[in-house]
Amino acid sequence: MTVRVRIAPSPTGNLHIGTARTAVFNWLYARHHGGQFILRIEDTDTTRSRPEYTENILEGLTWLGLNWDEGPTFQSKRLDLYRQATQTLLDKGLAYRSYDTEAELEEMRAAQKARKEAPRYDNRHRNLTAEQRAAFEAEGRQAVIRFIIDDNREIVWNDLVRGKLTWKASDLGGDMVIARASQGDAIGQPLYNLAVVVDDIDMQITHVIRGEDHIANTAKQILLYEALGAAVPEFSHTPLILNMQGQKLSKRDGVTSISEFKEMGFTPEALVNYMTLLGWSPPDSTQEIFTLEEAAHQFSFERVNKAGAKFDWAKLDWLNGQYLHAMPAPQLVELLIPYWQKAGFEFDPVSDRAWLEQLAAVIGPSLARLPEAVEMSRMLFTESVEFSEEAADQMKKEGASEVVQAILDTLDNYPELTSEQAQEIIKTVTKDKNVKKGLVMRSLRAGLTGDVNGPDLVESWVLLHQQGIDKTRLQKALSLAA
Ligand code: GLU
Repeated sequence: MTVRVRIAPSPTGNLHIGTARTAVFNWLYARHHGGQFILRIEDTDTTRSRPEYTENILEGLTWLGLNWDEGPTFQSKRLDLYRQATQTLLDKGLAYRSYDTEAELEEMRAAQKARKEAPRYDNRHRNLTAEQRAAFEAEGRQAVIRFIIDDNREIVWNDLVRGKLTWKASDLGGDMVIARASQGDAIGQPLYNLAVVVDDIDMQITHVIRGEDHIANTAKQILLYEALGAAVPEFSHTPLILNMQGQKLSKRDGVTSISEFKEMGFTPEALVNYMTLLGWSPPDSTQEIFTLEEAAHQFSFERVNKAGAKFDWAKLDWLNGQYLHAMPAPQLVELLIPYWQKAGFEFDPVSDRAWLEQLAAVIGPSLARLPEAVEMSRMLFTESVEFSEEAADQMKKEGASEVVQAILDTLDNYPELTSEQAQEIIKTVTKDKNVKKGLVMRSLRAGLTGDVNGPDLVESWVLLHQQGIDKTRLQKALSLAA
């Protein structure tokens, strides 16, 4: 049997982190088993679905590296298939037209509430006679189509994450609507549970992997598989993503869509790596950094947690940092150029390339998120810098001016400056002035960068020298100290 799994987002919003994580698990499972990963866009809700959301979903999955083997298939193009299946259920006597008005349903629910009963459809139109139906139609009433749910049934399946799950059919809310209201013999717009089952049968899906918020749907869907005479696939319900307080992650927790994570400066490799860890752990649980392929190699549902997965921003930042620190400069510079351009720094991406790559190599090890590169490299792009209070204080420390002056005096001997030469200058000045190396380093940093923290000092200096700004900076620093 070839494993065939799918991700089936509804284009009613941008690609959500929860959907993306479900896509990750589907992808990992498919790749682990040499199977197929299929993309289906569930756009039957015509009022809420938007093409720009579909676009965002496709872009997000592509950016994350979750390539699919088939699709995207659009449910809106397959309405005939759902109508046929609904007709089959009507013909078999497993579904019926239900003519209740909204007011009648309201009244039914109010009565249930008064009796302290859970709201459910009381199946009142299940056995209408031909005359009753004709009378409703003569009144001009529209009918939804309901699928019969036998309250005596118990639905049992062996969930790949949660083990044996049992649902009483009597808890499913009564006969369920599978098609929206329509007139006469027409069949209205299909609803989610019906369309999903018809598609999963048609696309020969072997494993349905989705969030645990779909467990009740699974119970309903199993009844539909049986009614349509199809084999029931395996089910796997993955844990929800929670915030650090243990509640379901929502808009209130800040960003939730993949495009927002991208804008915040996370790399797709780090984000997707982090998502694999949201609910799954590799057999060697100390291993935290891996590619999708490596994770796929080791992936199994045995190591997926039942408990919700807490979204930990600090961990995501750490992981993103790991990827940025290890990224070769030519690759990193590509990611940084748009941020530098947006910040308005003046440079030519082509002719300044070598210098930009050196800069990327210098700041790369200090980055956690890409936009941090702007402030970190501002002092390398702009002629003058604001001196922070701490930097100005540093320049006033005893010996600081002498040290900076001594460095300045040697600089004329270096039309070009290598890291080794820069180190040598620092050493010589430390010795000649008989001061601690720390004083030289701190004063030089303050003088060169206007700050007391920052990327590697020697490497920053070399870059500033190449830009021809180190001298003027040191002169300015001296004037501040005076
Ligand atoms: N369209 C559904 C959703 O976005 C798909 C659920 C499923 O995988 O069946 O939640």
